[in-house]
Amino acid sequence: MRKIALHWQILIAIILAAAVGYAVNLATTDDVTPGILGVEYTVIFTFIGDLFLNALKMIIVPLITSSIIVGVAGIGSGGHLGSLGGKTLLFYAATTLAAILIGLLVMNAVKPGLIDGEPIGHMLSFEASAADVAARVEGKGVGDVAKIFLRMVPENIVHAAAEGQMLGMIFFAILFGFFMTRLDHDYSEPLYKFWNGVFHVMMKMTNWIMLFAPIGVFALVANVIAETGFDAAPSLFLFALAVLFALALHAFVLLPVLLRLVGRVRPFAVLNRAKQAMLMAFSTASSSATLPVTMECAEEKIGISNKVSSFVLPLGATVNMNGTALYECAAAIFLAQAYGLDLTFGVQFAIVTIALMTSIGVAGVPSASLVAIAIILAAIGLPVEAIGALMVFDRILDMARTSVNIWGDTCCATIIARLDGEETKVAL
Ligand code: ASP
Repeated sequence: MRKIALHWQILIAIILAAAVGYAVNLATTDDVTPGILGVEYTVIFTFIGDLFLNALKMIIVPLITSSIIVGVAGIGSGGHLGSLGGKTLLFYAATTLAAILIGLLVMNAVKPGLIDGEPIGHMLSFEASAADVAARVEGKGVGDVAKIFLRMVPENIVHAAAEGQMLGMIFFAILFGFFMTRLDHDYSEPLYKFWNGVFHVMMKMTNWIMLFAPIGVFALVANVIAETGFDAAPSLFLFALAVLFALALHAFVLLPVLLRLVGRVRPFAVLNRAKQAMLMAFSTASSSATLPVTMECAEEKIGISNKVSSFVLPLGATVNMNGTALYECAAAIFLAQAYGLDLTFGVQFAIVTIALMTSIGVAGVPSASLVAIAIILAAIGLPVEAIGALMVFDRILDMARTSVNIWGDTCCATIIARLDGEETKVAL
C-alpha cells in the first residue's frame, strides 16, 4: 500500500479531531463528562497533546543553539553577518508593519465593534472571569516594552535557556558563533564539528518526532474543539471573520507578491513546500514548538541553505510575528470601537507602534499575544478586562495567526536566501 504523505496524515487528523472533539463537546453536560473507563476524553487528549508538544519543545534549546552557532560561524566574516542581519531585520520590520496596517485598514473598513454606528460594548459577554484576565496580564504596562530589549541580554544564559527565553539564547549563540571564527583553526575546527554534529542530530530527532504528528495533532485539536465547540457569539463573529480576512490578505496577497517580485521565486511552490510547517503551526498555535519543522521544510523542501535558515528562522520564530502583530492591532481597534473610544490619529498611531514593538517580544506560545494586547489597552486608556471578550475566539484565531507567523518567517528566509545569491528549489 502506498504510504500517505505526512501532511495529508496531519490534515486528516485535524478533520477527524474536529468531528470527534465536537461529538465530545455535544455529549458534555453539567452532569456528564464523557470518557472511557472512567477517564475523561479531554484528560486523554491533554495527555497525548502535551506529550507531543513536550517532545517538540524538548529539542528547542539544543536546536537553536547549535543551528545559530553553525550558521553564524559558517557566514564567517563580520561584514557578511552584518549584511545578512541587516537584511533580515529590515524584512522582518517591513512585513510586520505591513501586516499591522492591513489589520488597521480592514478593521476601519468593517468596523466590527459597531452595529448601526453604535458601540457594541454592552453586548460583549466576558467569558473569562475578571480574576483570570487579571492574573494573565497583571501589572503590564508600556514599560514592559523596554523589558523586551533587556531580555535580549540575559544575566544568566542557563537560566534564560531553562525559562525558554529565546531572544537571550539567540543573542548568546550569535556571539558564540561569531567569536568562534576569531579563534585559531585548532580550536575552532573541533568546535564547529561538534556543534554541526549536534545540529544534525536535532534535525534527525525532529524527523522522528514528526512521525507522531498525526496522533499529537489529533489530540491537540480534539481537545480545543471538545472544550469550546463551534458555538459562535454573534457579536464577535464579525470580528473573527474580519481578522481571518485580514490575515488571508497578508498571507495570500502581500507575501506572495514580495516572494515573486523581490525573491524571484514561485510563491505557491514555496507555500506548497511549507505546508507541513503551517499545519503544525495551526495545530499547536506555537511558533516555538513549530520551529524544528519550519527549519526542516526550509532546508530540505525549499532548498534554503543551512547558513541562512539557521540564522533567519530561529530569530523569526520570536521576533517576526506577522499574524500576531496584525491581530494585536485588530483586537485593540475592535475593543476601542466597541467601547466607543474616539479613534483619533494619535490613538491609532499608538496602537500601531506598540503592536510593532510588542510583537517582537511576544513568546511563540499559545495565547501569548493577549499580554501584548493588555499593554496596548492600558496605553490607550481602555480597561484591561475588555480582553475577556476576545477569549471566545482566541484559540481558533491563535491557530490562524500562528500559521501566518510561520509563513511570514518562511517567506523572509526564502527572500533573504535569494538576495544572498542562492538558487533554492523554487526559483522562477
Ligand atoms: N501563538 C502565537 C505564536 O506562537 C503567539 C500569539 O499570537 O499568541 O506564534
